Amino acid sequence: MSRFFTPALAALEPYTPGEQPAVPDLVKLNANENPYPPAPGVAAAVAGTIAGLRLYSDLTEARLTAAIARRCGVPADWVLCGNGSDENLLLAIRAFCDADTPLAFADITYSFYPVLCNLLGVPARVVPLRGDFTLDETAYYGLGGTIVIANPNAPTGLLAPPAAIERIAQQNPGSVVIVDEAYVDFAGPGASCLPLVQKYENLMVVRTFSKSRSLAGARLGYCVAQPALVADMNRVKFSYSPYNVNSMSEAAGAAAMEDEAYFQKTVAAVCQTRADTAAGLRARGFTVLDSATNFLFATHPRRPAAALLEGLRRRRVLVRRFTAPRIQNWLRITIGTPAQMQRFFAALDEALGEEDGN
Ligand SMILES: *Cc1c(COP(=O)(O)O)cnc(C)c1O
Repeated sequence: MSRFFTPALAALEPYTPGEQPAVPDLVKLNANENPYPPAPGVAAAVAGTIAGLRLYSDLTEARLTAAIARRCGVPADWVLCGNGSDENLLLAIRAFCDADTPLAFADITYSFYPVLCNLLGVPARVVPLRGDFTLDETAYYGLGGTIVIANPNAPTGLLAPPAAIERIAQQNPGSVVIVDEAYVDFAGPGASCLPLVQKYENLMVVRTFSKSRSLAGARLGYCVAQPALVADMNRVKFSYSPYNVNSMSEAAGAAAMEDEAYFQKTVAAVCQTRADTAAGLRARGFTVLDSATNFLFATHPRRPAAALLEGLRRRRVLVRRFTAPRIQNWLRITIGTPAQMQRFFAALDEALGEEDGN
């Protein structure tokens, strides 16, 4: 750290992303990336943008916004694209929180929320999940401030019914309620709060291309809300990074969004592998939460998660563990291809045997 860094920022604790090591033959199940490649049309779509790269990207991301709006069944001015969900979350917190308007979120949830609060000088209001990691919706009634709820939640993988989120929006008419649906495409029909956006002017749905659309490296996300909220977000965006979505990512995202069949096929494959992996973990004695996502959250009654993570790592299988006290004995395991999960289980069985002293 230099002596020029401002004291407020010097005190920041930045987010720790899942590591991205360049090790050959690695089974990477630590960042909830999709194991399947992007839709087949993405390559040509990106190639088609190269000649135009001398120009700035489209300020309104018209093609991408149209593709998203069509699929979500809303007009284009209900959609805002961003450089990953992470940027949209930043824009939303910047727009709807300040020193007097805290951001409320669960104690166990996406750990980027508190980081953004610190960066932006917004007080965090932590609302504990119940003992079984489910959402305690009544704890949010009349809370005020701004609220963000990851649904399905990370790293637990649990889905709260949209009706619970609806009641939270009803009970906080003066607050913006942000629903972070990074994983909702893996949650089955009826899981999304998108239909509620029509009914509630204070509800915003935030989504990403990083997980279900296999485009984590493109850095692409979007939010859907009534036009007034989108306009607020746009005012912030145009005050800091007007050309935030680059032309290549925009083309990639539009091509991915337009290929519904490929999307359905890869999501179904991940969900099938998730069921098989959960069964395999339970057969080995793990407690596994019911996942509505592309990862599983699991703990073993006798084997410390930290030792298992190291045992897997030595066998070039990466999973993730968090150090918050309530979950430090849990592993978050991203769903890979069936072949990757075979390697995961082979490594896991060796690690479990090693723990036994065999
Ligand atoms: C992965 C994730 C995001 C971030 O998505 P990007 O679009 O890659 O920035 C946001 N929220 C949650 C809960 C996530 O797990």
